[in-house]
Amino acid sequence: MSALPEPGIVIVGASLAGLRGAEALRLRGYTGPLDIVGDEPHPPYDRPPLSKHVLAGELAPDATALPNLVPLRANWHLGVAATGLDREARTLRLADGRALAYRRLLIATGAQARPWPGPERAALSGVFTLRGRDDAAALRAVLAKGPRHVLIVGGGLIGCEAASCCRDLGIDVTLVDPNPTPLARSLGTFVGGVVAGLLERSGVDFRPGAHVELLEGDSFGGFRRAHLRGGETIEAEVAIVALGAVRSTGWLAGAGLMADAGGLTCDGACRALAADGTPCEDIYAAGDVARWPNPIYSGRLISVEHWGNAVEQAGHAARNMLAAPDDQEPYAHLPAFWSSQFGINIKAVGLSEGADSVAIVQGSRAARRFLAVYGRAGRSIAAVSFDEARWLPAYAEQIRAGRPFPPIRDATDQARIEIHAPGFPPRRSEPAAREIVDA
Ligand SMILES: Cc1cc2nc3c(=O)[nH]c(=O)nc-3n(C[C@H](O)[C@H](O)[C@H](O)COP(=O)(O)OP(=O)(O)OC[C@H]3O[C@@H](n4cnc5c(N)ncnc54)[C@H](O)[C@@H]3O)c2cc1C
Repeated sequence: MSALPEPGIVIVGASLAGLRGAEALRLRGYTGPLDIVGDEPHPPYDRPPLSKHVLAGELAPDATALPNLVPLRANWHLGVAATGLDREARTLRLADGRALAYRRLLIATGAQARPWPGPERAALSGVFTLRGRDDAAALRAVLAKGPRHVLIVGGGLIGCEAASCCRDLGIDVTLVDPNPTPLARSLGTFVGGVVAGLLERSGVDFRPGAHVELLEGDSFGGFRRAHLRGGETIEAEVAIVALGAVRSTGWLAGAGLMADAGGLTCDGACRALAADGTPCEDIYAAGDVARWPNPIYSGRLISVEHWGNAVEQAGHAARNMLAAPDDQEPYAHLPAFWSSQFGINIKAVGLSEGADSVAIVQGSRAARRFLAVYGRAGRSIAAVSFDEARWLPAYAEQIRAGRPFPPIRDATDQARIEIHAPGFPPRRSEPAAREIVDA
């Protein structure tokens, strides 16, 4: 009788973190079995172009495939979800009834678009969320038909990028957000006001401080209009629901891990924590799904929903997966993201959350070309540039080192640095890390 093959490494989530994690394992010399499980039917693809070039019709949805940088020699299980995890038996359950044994597991299941609350209204034709390639293809097909009016619910990065694409296509857009400016949660209203100006200049009907209460359908099951709090209605053929993301942890229900819709909690080395707080030596996480104590922020638990973290954390987790338990390196990451909208390149580093001050150190808001630095308690914690990224890497180093605010006295073209209130809306309460009881 032939012996069963030794279980190898299994990766759940066949997207950016999953792919880059697999490549890092091979680059670091792992030669054993490698299985990659993904619930989408597509091989790994890139999400940032979806809300930019794909919606604009400049890039076909299937042209977003991520390049494979290393021969992986992996067994791909695409179009099949992982539905459960038996930690004791070191086995992953799959939706098609199969089970996969693992020696080490990398969880890279990312996040999903937060749907419109109420599945019936969310399912109206003409109501879209934007997370995956199929979402983008379906939305692009509708936009290409030239609808008269698109409603966008939510003025975060994806809502603003979608608004920008729609205006470029000549489509009327109303963007509704409960905050005083777009991007208020990530950049504050001082900088968000510049984005509000961009929306206005491009002809977007921006409704700050407004709440969509109901999406109304017609008798054919199509979206017809939105009802705002206060009674106003907005007629539109398309509604793009851009309400942020929830982490894909539902499949871990009952696995005894510390996970909820805010992420899977890990230790500093990216090892998943069991419900009692002990790290699992054989289970790691990376990318949007992971929440870990970041040494750059004094060990505060953070999760990062940006491209650069998915790549870097996957590489780091791969390193630790192959290392001995007493050789686990902590993962320190300075968050960073970019966005392009209304012809402007926005780049940001650090975590602006909790900032008590902000200063323009290069350029001006009026010219919509500037670099702003955020401070908290006298330390520089984040910076954002609008078409003015030359000094951003230098500021990133200062932020990483926790230098005083504003950090580089002579790296400014301002006669006098004025300090402003950043204007962050009050924080929504986050659920505490806990084990999932329900999927
Ligand atoms: C429209 C859009 C635009 C963006 N633009 C930018 C940008 O401009 N700049 C930037 O920095 N970042 C941007 N991002 C964020 C960036 O794309 C993400 O941070 C990155 O994709 C995270 O990679 P990930 O692999 O961790 O997760 P994901 O990309 O979410 O991948 C997780 C994968 O796991 C799969 N999965 C989930 N559950 C299961 C399961 N139970 N079994 C099997 N598979 C499962 C999912 O279907 C998915 O394929 C954007 C994101 C979106 C959606």
